[in-house]
Amino acid sequence: MILKIKLIPLFLLLYQISLNAQSKAPFSEMSLLGRSNPKLHSDSIPLLPEVGTAFLKMQAAARKAGIEIAIVSAYRSYDRQKGIWNRKYRSNTQQGLKPKQNIKKIIEYSTLPGTSRHHWGTDVDLIDGKQPVSGDVLLTENFHGKGPYVEMRKWMDAHAVEYGFIRPYTSDDNRKGFYYEPWHYSYAPLAIPMLKAYLQLNLNSLLLPEDLEGQKHIDTKFMKQYIQENVLGINKVLK
Ligand SMILES: [Zn+2]
Repeated sequence: MILKIKLIPLFLLLYQISLNAQSKAPFSEMSLLGRSNPKLHSDSIPLLPEVGTAFLKMQAAARKAGIEIAIVSAYRSYDRQKGIWNRKYRSNTQQGLKPKQNIKKIIEYSTLPGTSRHHWGTDVDLIDGKQPVSGDVLLTENFHGKGPYVEMRKWMDAHAVEYGFIRPYTSDDNRKGFYYEPWHYSYAPLAIPMLKAYLQLNLNSLLLPEDLEGQKHIDTKFMKQYIQENVLGINKVLK
């Protein structure tokens, strides 16, 4: 009799945990592809709320060290990424690049729509807002040598991980895919499970809309390599 009484609450508890686990599978296909229009922290911090909170803590800590972490780009929708891709493709075409070269050039730094980590609301491009810079800010040379963001990079090297932020596109020579991006950070506590969920999707059938420039030149073989080298060519600790 006593055993029976104890088993019932245990069963209820397990049932509740399993219900919770189901409701906590929050990464819908739409959200992983940048098509969900997610609720973001704020207009000035367009990251998922949890990521925005962690970002503000990191920003406050950096401020004490004289660095003003500023967001250049954070959440980006599928349509916005498609716009970036198409604009680059047309510009490269005008400069005389053939389709295959064109695509190769784009994926040095930019993704196919539906494959950007910026779709997830976990990833962000950062600079030091205190430093006066003209022209393009997201250049590797700005973060190295005598560049304006060297102090910020060094601070981030030492402290970003304490707030959950880790660079996916490292300078590791053994890494394939996108070039080194010293400005790009992922919020690991969410980006790691999101990548896992993302890889469960049938990406081949999802990624090539009719109105994507160069679409005809992207075949299954390319996609397989792109997913292996670009999507998965990231810092090992984020996998
Ligand atoms: Zn980025």
